[in-house]
Amino acid sequence: MKPLHLILSLSVLLFGSCSTKPQADLLLYNAVVYAVDDDFSVHDAIAVSDGRVVGVGAKADLEQGFSMDSVLDLDGAIVFPGFIDAHCHVMGYAQALLTADLRAAGSEEEMVLLLKRWYDLQLERGFTLDRVQGWGWDQNNWPGKEMPERSLLDSLFPDVPVILRRVDGHAVLVNGKALEADQVCCPDGLKGGEIVMDGDRPTGLLIDNAVERVEDWTPDKAQMEEALKLAEQNLLAHGLTGLHDAGLPKEEWMLLRSMSSTGDFRIPISCMASDDPENFAFLRESGPIEEDRFWLRSVKFYSDGALGSRGALLLEPYADAPHAHGLPVTSREDMKERLEEVYAMGLQACVHAIGDSANRMVLKLYADQLQDDHNRRWRVEHAQVVQPGDRHWFSDHGIIPSVQPTHATSDADWAEDRLGADRMAAAYAYSSLRAQLGILPLGTDFPVEDIDPLKTFYSAVSRKDFSGMPESGFLTSESLSREEAIRGMTVEAAYAQFREAETGSLEPGKWADLVVLDTDLMECAEEAIPIARILSTWIRGERLFSAQDPN
Ligand SMILES: [Zn+2]
Repeated sequence: MKPLHLILSLSVLLFGSCSTKPQADLLLYNAVVYAVDDDFSVHDAIAVSDGRVVGVGAKADLEQGFSMDSVLDLDGAIVFPGFIDAHCHVMGYAQALLTADLRAAGSEEEMVLLLKRWYDLQLERGFTLDRVQGWGWDQNNWPGKEMPERSLLDSLFPDVPVILRRVDGHAVLVNGKALEADQVCCPDGLKGGEIVMDGDRPTGLLIDNAVERVEDWTPDKAQMEEALKLAEQNLLAHGLTGLHDAGLPKEEWMLLRSMSSTGDFRIPISCMASDDPENFAFLRESGPIEEDRFWLRSVKFYSDGALGSRGALLLEPYADAPHAHGLPVTSREDMKERLEEVYAMGLQACVHAIGDSANRMVLKLYADQLQDDHNRRWRVEHAQVVQPGDRHWFSDHGIIPSVQPTHATSDADWAEDRLGADRMAAAYAYSSLRAQLGILPLGTDFPVEDIDPLKTFYSAVSRKDFSGMPESGFLTSESLSREEAIRGMTVEAAYAQFREAETGSLEPGKWADLVVLDTDLMECAEEAIPIARILSTWIRGERLFSAQDPN
């Protein structure tokens, strides 16, 4: 990237001496601009034209080089390349926005009021929900611990069916409208469940098999579009200018693709196709998709499950379940066959691997397939437990570990129970993994974790969550430096989606995808990171979020 800087400096000199300077759309100045280029250079201004960076440097130099259509004083704010989430689930997050989270309710009344507030907010946002759906209530957290019933719900929601799932999913509370809509009236021979009655009146509480009597609400296309627009607003408000969706069936990526093409979803997004016959049929027939802000050139596979539920595939048994090794999700033979096809189609493979056995299997299969082909950028998603002796596969074959620092801090409380003290040296070893290839794209796996990239940054560098836990940090020898974390959230995430020539750093020629913050993440005290604010988010030179005008 250095040559571009030299060319720019030269052009500044040349144009500076002429009367006709090239036009630039916008100069952002009085800022601390982290270019996140090879030298991690810092500047005080950035010039943008036609959506692209045309120069970074001193304000005076840029003004000499370009005649500016407009200028914006950033008042000392901090500029980074926009954050890219290298592993997330956008559709899952959007869907979750259509369901009220009732976990915080401390009583039955509070649950209903919480739901009402959430519902009113949806109406304000222009959502029309034909069913109101919530989840997460737990009467064990309420005074008296009584199971709820529908009277209050009926009085506040007389006209629309309401279905509220208990935190474990084994019971639902519904209102009269839902009972009417799904014709739930009386026990009528139901086995393995209960429609709770008060005399001949159903109370609205349905238990176990009775839960199936009310229809699960699935949003239609128009509702999903609305939810994705709302999701986009939230993501922009957190400084995100790029996304990798980690696995979607065709119907879902088609929706994102069409919204991307009409400008209804503006955050550039790479989607991994989920491993299913419909996606494979499409890819065989049509090949990868590379459009303006939408890409489909990867396939997502699963090799094992998760550590929390003891589904991660381990070489040695679980420390807290001596007969369990976890569960393989895809057999070695099936995986091998599919990787061969993905390779032949010129696509990127992204395999979920958590346990050390799963990671070893995937790395070996990758190595056999890739041989000396170092630029396929095949990825191991999560790479959570990788034996130190297996790490060389990453650098030997250009394999990318794709990790989520908030997983490490979320799992900190119980990971050692599962793995035992000795095996912890192999776990969440982000610094060691980064050392292999020199890059480590970072993501969140939202909605499993929060969407906030500042949490990713904080977890990566401090190995604590936003509440400061664990106090002394979790396996801190594997923490990343601030520069490494920023690179993982920007240019290295762009590399993992083959977009590093276009975005991920603020260098002439790249898109002006950037985020403006009130806090210098490179210099501030560690405690200041969780309270840093995003002031604005820009994609291709266009300000799509501003804290002054959130909508
Ligand atoms: Zn995921």
